[in-house]
Amino acid sequence: MKILKELDRDTFKSRFGTKSLCYQFLSDQKWSSGYNCIKCDHNKYSRGSQTCSRRCRKCGYDESTTTNTLFHKLKFGIDKAFEMLYEIVTSKKGANSIWLAERFGVNQKTAWLFRQKAQAAMQSSEQHPLENEVHVDEFEIGTPQKGEQGRSKSTKKVRVVLAVEHREGKAGRAYAKIIEDYSSKSLKVIFDTHIKEDAFVVSDGWSGYKPLKEEFPNLTQRLSNNGENFKMLHIQIRNFKNWLRGMHSYCSKEFLQKYINEYFFRFNRRNHRASILDKVLERCVSHQPMTYNMMKS
Ligand SMILES: [Zn+2]
Repeated sequence: MKILKELDRDTFKSRFGTKSLCYQFLSDQKWSSGYNCIKCDHNKYSRGSQTCSRRCRKCGYDESTTTNTLFHKLKFGIDKAFEMLYEIVTSKKGANSIWLAERFGVNQKTAWLFRQKAQAAMQSSEQHPLENEVHVDEFEIGTPQKGEQGRSKSTKKVRVVLAVEHREGKAGRAYAKIIEDYSSKSLKVIFDTHIKEDAFVVSDGWSGYKPLKEEFPNLTQRLSNNGENFKMLHIQIRNFKNWLRGMHSYCSKEFLQKYINEYFFRFNRRNHRASILDKVLERCVSHQPMTYNMMKS
């Protein structure tokens, strides 16, 4: 069988081109392991009043396919939502909210909120730590400050630590985390969350890594030699920064981690592009609803 490398637009349209196809998908996902009424837990239902909704035979509660999911109370059609997700996961540049607003004829706040939801669905489950040879390094990103225009001098540096699997000179999977400083305590976060204890981690000579050898016995330190020893890692940093630059709408540190998560969610599935949308859709169904007020903090 030929495995699809990309989810092309025609395939997308044939799977999710109409509202009823989208609702059917949601229904299949939502009740994949059976139906239980969310009000009274009864397990028998009849057809509800909306497409693919289910009405409890005991209490009469009519549950739509979008209730208790990230598609709850959308301000636009479900088919549009699916297509936006398609653009977000397949577009090289990542489809920022300005672009989405224009392309789908919604206002920017609406597009921004929906993007936040998509990002929530792309957060790491932290269940698949990096293994074998892993290279770790830190870098900085200048984030424009609120109220400042474009290329103002007022940028704040945000520190990030990145870990990438090193597979015969090429990158495997990767994760990154925002850190307060370069102390051992801060650097340890990415080790604890995303790296297997027995991984062969390689860092540069920075003293902050030294105490981590206690928990990560296979950690070795190597002189950077002006980046020569961490070439692959530095290419990844550059690629990430280039992608982030295209995301005009990110503005502050609190949102930056979500963009990092989104980038690496896609990066780690770059060889499974045909199934990436399904993964995001699945997660949208199992994720609790989010509102604008929850987001803007
Ligand atoms: Zn019920």
